[in-house]
Amino acid sequence: MTETRLTIRRPDDWHLHLRDGDMLKSVLPSTSANFGRAIIMPNLVPPVVTSQDAEGYRDRILAAMPEGHDFTPLMTLYLTETTDADDLEQAAKSGLVTAVKLYPAGATTNSQSGVRDFDKVAGVLERMAEIGLPLLVHGEVTTPDVDIFDREAVFIETVLDPIRRKFPKLKVVMEHITTEEGVNYARSGGDNLGATITTHHLIINRNDLLVGGIKPHFYCLPVAKREKHRLALRAAATSGDARFFLGTDSAPHLDQNKLCECGCAGIFSALNTMSCLAHVFEEEGALDKLEAFASLNGPAFYGMAPNTTNVDLVKTDEKVVYPPNIPTPEGPVTLFNPGFDIFWKVENEK
Ligand SMILES: [Zn+2]
Repeated sequence: MTETRLTIRRPDDWHLHLRDGDMLKSVLPSTSANFGRAIIMPNLVPPVVTSQDAEGYRDRILAAMPEGHDFTPLMTLYLTETTDADDLEQAAKSGLVTAVKLYPAGATTNSQSGVRDFDKVAGVLERMAEIGLPLLVHGEVTTPDVDIFDREAVFIETVLDPIRRKFPKLKVVMEHITTEEGVNYARSGGDNLGATITTHHLIINRNDLLVGGIKPHFYCLPVAKREKHRLALRAAATSGDARFFLGTDSAPHLDQNKLCECGCAGIFSALNTMSCLAHVFEEEGALDKLEAFASLNGPAFYGMAPNTTNVDLVKTDEKVVYPPNIPTPEGPVTLFNPGFDIFWKVENEK
């Protein structure tokens, strides 16, 4: 049997949804088994808006972690029009909070508390620029007259670029970019601009979502775009360019909430992400760039050291079979199906 083995630093996930309660307990092991750290999204109901909320949530995550797993949740606060700059600064300085998340109001799951009037958060952004705390942006406008497939490009032009001009020192991560415009804008920035790319946006385009019948498990936000955009994302992720790094945006929803008249947006990919990525990077002839994308570029952007342990990605002739879903007390959560057979598996350092 032929075997290919690739040893890389343990990866991190720079954009992750863990939810809370039973769902948290059910999905966390998929991440904590495979990643050293993850940026935890704050869009709970109610959202994580104060340092006290973040502390409580972090404690619930740590309490839910399986024994023997070595994983650090990196907490974020949800930016609202009433975020307190002093509370934020204190939370950042104590190490409790790693970044702040900006959701335009109504952009995605649980984003009702997001920002409507950007002037109201100017003071907070000013403070973040001063102390070097990154702003993570869900880069889509939510105005009803903008087509869903254009929302990222319009956001860059009408919201993101003006923010970056007003606060040139602010560190910004363009979260889960999905378009060529996103890639080009990230490339145009200096070293205080980064962009995360999900696993699934490297694999699916909007045809996969819509042709031959709607595939609710491929529905996420930002929605998958045309093929040319997927190719631009692949080129960026596999380029080794330090501005691009992995953020899975693994976002579990119960099947019953996806398979219905108004299904939720989100793809759960934490469990098989590294296997899928190895497949993609091999396809692109870029296995030597996978470590940069998954394990090095992210920490460098955040000013952190890479993880000290390694993982092996091992490919054999034998198909790696992941379960189609993971169980939760309320029902199953379907795992991302990349549409190809997987031969790469992850072996953690003993
Ligand atoms: Zn997300």
